[in-house]
Amino acid sequence: MRVRAYAAPAAGQPLAPTTIERREVGPNDVLIEIRYAGICHSDIHTVNGDWGPQPFPVVPGHEIVGTVTEVGSSVTRHGVGDLVGVGCMVGSCGECASCRNGDEQYCREGMVPTYAGTDRDGTTTQGGYSTHVVVDADYVLAVPDGLDPAAAAPLLCAGITTYAPLRRWDAGPGRKVAVVGLGGLGHMAVKIAHALGAEVTVLSQSLKKQEDGLRLGADHYHATSDPATFEQLAGHFDLVLNTVSAGIDLDAYLGLLAVDGTLVNVGAPAAPLSVNVMSLIGARRSFAGSMIGGIALTQEMLDFCAEHGIGAEVEVIPAEQVNEAYERVLASDVRYRFVIDAATLG
Ligand code: NAP
Ligand code: ZN
Repeated sequence: MRVRAYAAPAAGQPLAPTTIERREVGPNDVLIEIRYAGICHSDIHTVNGDWGPQPFPVVPGHEIVGTVTEVGSSVTRHGVGDLVGVGCMVGSCGECASCRNGDEQYCREGMVPTYAGTDRDGTTTQGGYSTHVVVDADYVLAVPDGLDPAAAAPLLCAGITTYAPLRRWDAGPGRKVAVVGLGGLGHMAVKIAHALGAEVTVLSQSLKKQEDGLRLGADHYHATSDPATFEQLAGHFDLVLNTVSAGIDLDAYLGLLAVDGTLVNVGAPAAPLSVNVMSLIGARRSFAGSMIGGIALTQEMLDFCAEHGIGAEVEVIPAEQVNEAYERVLASDVRYRFVIDAATLG
């Protein structure tokens, strides 16, 4: 079927309306009528070529919420009318150690990304800035009752990308957690870490968003433009979660960790970052990375968010404002996630 979408025609070019082909619904597929698609900074890195060449035209979007309108003959876990979500991943081998361990995102064969990836039938995947998508039912999540569909969309990437490391590195009561960057990922990290019971500190470039940060669940808020922040908080945190989309001085942030503390990088800037190993050695610190989360953990995160009344703070926009939204994200002027209303795709 031909469906309406917004695509970037080439690297760095503005997105424009187009139509794309979606495959026939196979036995294990689900056809979803998309309602909302979040705008992740990864969409912008991809279309701007920050991460290398892409199979243009690219329809971005991996924070998808919509309604099931058709299911294949062997699908049992989703039914017509269900509210569902799709995140960053629409396939994996299912057999390697990572897949068997519920870490499909680290599939040895390479997971199939929701857009700009090669699907198992050899076609290029196209993402959620679109009216419909056909996805293997095993990569479709159930959106629990009680979550607002627009506010739930960003959970499919920003939510799971922060929930996974917060769980893995034990954010919880008695633990001091810093979140670097209060954007799409950062604001979800604050809400989730707070709900997990951790003592949460936001480290933002300025104090402009301090009131918001405290309202979202942070206990403390500091500006990284103020050198006193790094003196005052030296050796303080058990976990620092870096969500920044650009390069930062990692050594300065490693210095904020207590003995045995971990800095987990989820931000994925275009250029490599460097670390002085002395920043690690001096206090048995760790520097780690983390990418989204497996399907079962994503469902757990959605259920956790529903239970705790957590959704993203969203600004819902018509599709024609997508290029303007990209500019605002690049200027750190997002409060805190843009979400495209798919009904405006025409
Ligand atoms: P975002 O909404 O743009 O948030 C990034 C925040 O970083 C900004 O709001 C800003 O916060 C801070 N920031 C931006 N430029 C900065 C600079 N030059 N120096 C210091 N701080 C700066 O982006 P996002 O959607 O949350 O994504 C963040 C990063 O995570 C991107 O690189 C994205 O590709 C990556 N990502 C990774 C995964 C994964 O699986 N690991 C998944 C999704 C996204 P303040 O204004 O508060 O300083
Ligand atoms: Zn994303």
